[in-house]
Amino acid sequence: MKYVYFFGAGKADGNAKMKDLLGGKGANLAEMTSIGLPVPAGFTITTEVCTEYYKNQKNYPAGLKEEVATNLRAVEDLMGKKFGDPKNPLLVSVRSGARASMPGMMDTILNLGLNDTTVQGIIAQSGDERFAYDAYRRFVQMYSDVVMGMHKDELEQLLERKKEARGVHLDTELTVADWKELVGAFKTKIQETLGVPFPEEPEAQLWGAIGAVFGSWMNQRAITYRKLNSIPAEWGTAVNVQSMVFGNMGDDCATGVAFTRDPSTGENYFYGEYLVNAQGEDVVAGIRTPQPINRAKHKPGDLPSMEEVLPDCYQQLVKIREILEKHYRDMQDIEFTIETGKLYMLQTRNGKRTAKAAIKVAVDMVNEGLIDEKTAVLRVAPNQLDQLLHPSLDPKADKKVIAKGLPASPGAASGTVVFTADEAESQAKLGNKVILVRVETSPEDIHGMHAAQGILTARGGMTSHAAVVARGMGKCCVAGCGDIKVDYASGKFTAKDGTVINKGDVITLDGGTGEVMLGAVPTVAASASGDFATLMGWVDKFRRMKVRANADTPHDARTAREFGAEGIGLCRTEHMFFEASRIAAVREMILAADIDGRRKALAKILPMQKGDFIGLFREMKGLPVTIRLLDPPLHEFLPQEDKDIEELSRTMGVSAQTLRHKVEFLHEFNPMLGHRGCRLGVTFPEIYDMQVQAIMEAACELVRDEGFEIVPEIMIPLVSVTKELSLMRANAVAVCEEVMARYKVKVNYLIGTMIELPRAAITADSIATEADFFSFGTNDLTQTTFGLSRDDAGKFLPFYVENNIIEEDPFVSLDQDGVGALVKMGFEKGRSTRASLKVGICGEHGGDPSSVIFCDSVGLDYVSCSPFRVPIARLAAAHATL
Ligand code: ADP
Ligand code: MG
Ligand code: MG
Repeated sequence: MKYVYFFGAGKADGNAKMKDLLGGKGANLAEMTSIGLPVPAGFTITTEVCTEYYKNQKNYPAGLKEEVATNLRAVEDLMGKKFGDPKNPLLVSVRSGARASMPGMMDTILNLGLNDTTVQGIIAQSGDERFAYDAYRRFVQMYSDVVMGMHKDELEQLLERKKEARGVHLDTELTVADWKELVGAFKTKIQETLGVPFPEEPEAQLWGAIGAVFGSWMNQRAITYRKLNSIPAEWGTAVNVQSMVFGNMGDDCATGVAFTRDPSTGENYFYGEYLVNAQGEDVVAGIRTPQPINRAKHKPGDLPSMEEVLPDCYQQLVKIREILEKHYRDMQDIEFTIETGKLYMLQTRNGKRTAKAAIKVAVDMVNEGLIDEKTAVLRVAPNQLDQLLHPSLDPKADKKVIAKGLPASPGAASGTVVFTADEAESQAKLGNKVILVRVETSPEDIHGMHAAQGILTARGGMTSHAAVVARGMGKCCVAGCGDIKVDYASGKFTAKDGTVINKGDVITLDGGTGEVMLGAVPTVAASASGDFATLMGWVDKFRRMKVRANADTPHDARTAREFGAEGIGLCRTEHMFFEASRIAAVREMILAADIDGRRKALAKILPMQKGDFIGLFREMKGLPVTIRLLDPPLHEFLPQEDKDIEELSRTMGVSAQTLRHKVEFLHEFNPMLGHRGCRLGVTFPEIYDMQVQAIMEAACELVRDEGFEIVPEIMIPLVSVTKELSLMRANAVAVCEEVMARYKVKVNYLIGTMIELPRAAITADSIATEADFFSFGTNDLTQTTFGLSRDDAGKFLPFYVENNIIEEDPFVSLDQDGVGALVKMGFEKGRSTRASLKVGICGEHGGDPSSVIFCDSVGLDYVSCSPFRVPIARLAAAHATL
């Protein structure tokens, strides 16, 4: 087996495709070498050595030492220097490098190979004693910290004391003699503290550093990072040993980092920083102010650019930028060093970028002929789009964070604080921007959530009512903010840091980070720019699955269409019942003593429902609309407060006492599994009849009067046995036929069901005989498959996820092994008895990229998600096919 891969002078054993074996850094150093870029010679010890090392109780595989020695000789030959030679010493850097860049891994060691003898050689060669000792002391500091485990501060203190003694402030003001003394003092301190001497032998230094890189693979930071990012321990890290080049030998030397395009905007502009006479990561360390690479965007106060100071090297670097982009066909993040006027490349990798930049770079590169449309689509991660679809905080603005909660729904918003939904609504009507602050929200707060710019709750998790509804509305929400104490009675909340916010005070929320800030922090609006539209156009060419939206109102439906939804996959009719002007009639219907009373109340609701559906159908202009009949248990609509009960008792002409009894009677111990869904339709058929009538009258009217084409899809929720569906279907068909006969209009309608109970999935072949379509309600299906209620799961689910008992919150990402298996079974069984069965999903998962990809693999016709996630689902559906 080959353990060591050489690179230098235009030839390399490895290449960019060998990231698994050589790590990202090593593979790209090899690649840059073979395409002729100036890379200091060196070699890479493979990740397999790391794996072997841990398999064999931390022993290196036989033959490794010899291979390293052979490759070191080859580097020496190329450089015309010798490792450890007193006259002409080769110095190297030792750099770690896993497949994916990983914080927690060992820091790079520079200038390795220096000791009291070799430093003389460096002085002789460079003619610069100060440089030589500066390099030497840096090496001792780095090595003792990274390899020997000395605390950085201990040597740093010696340095500070030296400066004090000399009465100077800057490192650069110390003399050669000072540095010389310091190197000695450092070594003494190391011996005192650790009880072992600093290694003088270059060979020992090298193996010490190699051992430290492998050792760092199993340090606690690295292990934790791998766990959080599901990187397997078997991957291992590589070690790169590379001859040093010096950016700190004078004013014709420099070191720098750059992006081949602007990583925050994506603009095709060479973006970077450099420092004259500096080494390693001085640029990012913030010791001196770095200077811009080019002049084009010079701002007043900027230091002179590299274009002006080192014009020849600048021109070389510009050429390399072009070569790298043509070669990698992606934006690169590079590190370089200039030694006495000569440019060297030390690293390249695909640059990290914002969503905006990802889209611009992808679209530009297609136009430049560098990549094709498919590649461009794959370059943008679906979840990244979320950043773009909501307003965000102006990154340049100052902010004072007073509390932090869960980032429940992205976007940023500011407004004056209100504590009730009614107040939010009335303030919004006056044109004021408000933030609704609640301990928790419930369905009765929906109108206030609609009216508010953002929602802040003290309690509840990522799947609490506030979080789910806010995401659905595309509204910013910070939930479960335990840092605040809400005091409704005195109209204020207190943050952990003591800040008191009264009703009427202004705060800002960032739903992407969970931060709550004092005052109004400026935001910038989302823009579905030209590039965004171009990319989404390609996305739509490649995907197979359709994407619909979950929308309950014409307003949501319009948003959904603007984001490219191809229909409504779920319209929840109950949200229409909560409106202030209707709730009385709804309550009257529920509390009616008999069927006549119920019919009387339903007759009041009918025209309103019909109006809702007309609005929705008009907005969707002939696209499919799936309407779910009433689903929640009735007590959700009932008044709880005495004054509301009394008021209702007057309008209904019954005693408050009777009503109170009725409310108590309707109470359920476990409403999620109670009298809801089609169980309501079965026991109170007149409710569903009214809804079907409203749907069909709306459709018939639009067909007759406005020439619309509409195929309403009537959806029966929570079916568990076929008989429920056949009953509900028969009723619905009778109503539909009656309405069509009355209007003398023919409308094609579909009647289908939600599959949201395990029994329904298991008996889907039978259920499909009564259904024109299935829609997997994966929220309830997840609850009922796991046997957990998401309102109570907050007490243990986060613990489960943190401790890897389950990989991901199953309400965020579909549990493919369990719930997903039921979806697959339901799909296949359903299609087995009805080949034309239309199948989609309408849970929150419809907007989660990995769940969307799963749905595509099962073969579903569409996914349906909240309007603001429609572009994400479209992109994910395209990724699924590419
Ligand atoms: P990281 O993975 O943290 O980026 P690197 O291995 O890239 O660490 O090293 C950090 C910096 O050290 C590089 O950006 C470069 O400036 C400097 N460096 C590394 N190797 C050499 C070398 N052979 N010659 C000169 N500078 C080097
Ligand atoms: Mg680093
Ligand atoms: Mg680097």
